[in-house]
This record gives sequence, structure tokens and C-alpha cells, in this order.
Amino acid sequence: MTPAIEIQRLGKCYGALVALDNVDLVIQPGEFFALLGPNGAGKTTLISILAGLTRASHGTASVMGYDVLSGYREARKRLGVVPQELVYDPFFTVRETLVIQSGYFGLKRNDVWIDEILHHLDLTEKAHANVRALSGGMKRRLLIAQALVHKPPVIILDEPTAGVDVDLRQSLWQFIRQLNLQGHTIVLTTHYLEEAEALCNRVAVLKQGKIIALDSMHNLVHSTRGYTLEFRLS
Ligand code: ATP
Repeated sequence: MTPAIEIQRLGKCYGALVALDNVDLVIQPGEFFALLGPNGAGKTTLISILAGLTRASHGTASVMGYDVLSGYREARKRLGVVPQELVYDPFFTVRETLVIQSGYFGLKRNDVWIDEILHHLDLTEKAHANVRALSGGMKRRLLIAQALVHKPPVIILDEPTAGVDVDLRQSLWQFIRQLNLQGHTIVLTTHYLEEAEALCNRVAVLKQGKIIALDSMHNLVHSTRGYTLEFRLS
């Protein structure tokens, strides 16, 4: 089976700083995978390389068998990325934002699919609202909607619940779970061990650019409790 994500000896340096240090990782289709790690561990750098936004210093990375460098367009079509930061264009409505996003992928306008996404993310009533008028939670849901317009089989969410209240966190968790049940491979980065525990089957712990643990969520929590605690406190 072609892995959803395959990374081999991936490295990224910013001058003397080693942000990613020879990372090897294979994520299979259908997995619900967590990338855990403290600030500066290299999680966002890894995602940026997969999304084609940052060039690796060395090594290879592919999405559904397509190399992110040589086969960038094909790899990108198969990847939905929900970034950590709430970047949006304040001049457009919610619906227009999704139509524009479809255009980035060279897709024909698909109003039925956009309506479906809006419905699932509870944004139907806001379809014609200007993006700048949305609450923080709604903007976050719009970010997820944007990542879904091209129906990617693999979805990466970079700290999707950072700074959101408990209710929104629960509803985002439920939504992300549904995506996984529908067959999407999910990769989630988070600082919260509880989040990874609630959602994910397998986890990699990244620290200073290296994978220091790679296991099932169950094993990580039960057999390496002390180790996990050390990570938790760092
Ligand atoms: P956080 O959880 O805080 O988002 P992270 O695990 O996503 O952290 P990265 O953002 O990937 O970590 O950063 C890894 C390291 O690379 C950090 O030391 C960071 O300061 C550094 N870094 C990231 N981007 C750049 C850049 N454009 N120029 C220089 N250094 C960078």
C-alpha cells in the first residue's frame, strides 16, 4: 500500500540551527496520527515541507507517493493543510473564500460541495458574512473548510485547537474524528497530550528536530508514563 506520508532522512537547517534532524516517518492511509512536541520541536517545519512551503535541506518527503519537491502539484492536490495561524483575507465573504480556494486548485466551482462543507462546519448562516466579522472560533472552522475544498485524502492540522474554549474544542474534535471515519488520513500537531489521547491511534514525539518516541498512543501513555511526563513538562 502506498503510504499517505513517507519521510526519509529529512533535515532542515536555518543557518546553524537544526530544526529537523534526519527524520524518518511513515504514516499509512487511514491513520489518525499525532505529532507531539514542545515549542520549537520542529512540528511546523515538518508540515511546511510537506505543504511545499519550505524547502528541506536534505532528505525526501512524499504524500500519497508523490514527492513534495519533484511532484509538488500532485502531492499538494492530495494534502489539506489547516495552518496554525488564522490567516484570512478580510475583504471576502466566507463563501467567496472557499470559491477562491477551489480556484487555487484549478477546480470548477462546486457550490454543492461548498454548501456541504459549510453545513458540516456550522457556517451556513455565515456564508455571506465578511470573514473579518467572524468570531475566532468561526475563523478556525473556516480554516478547516478551506483545507477541505479539494477533497484531499490526507489532512494535516497544525494545533487546530490552540487557544479555543472547551466547547469549540469538543466540536472540532468530533468533526476531525468524522473526517477520519470517512477515510481521511489525519495528522495532527498538538501540545496537548490529552488531545492526542482522545483522538489519535499513533504518535510521534518530536524534540529538537528529532523523533524521540514513535508508538501507539496506548503504549506511549501506559508504558512510558515517566517519559511522557518529562515531555509534558518540557
Ligand atoms: P511550536 O509548537 O511553537 O509551533 P514547532 O514544533 O512547530 O513549535 P517550528 O516552528 O518548526 O517548531 O520551529 C523549529 C525550530 O526552527 C525553532 O527553533 C524555530 O525557532 C526555528 N525556525 C522555524 N522557522 C524558522 C525560520 N524561518 N528562520 C529561522 N529559524 C526558524
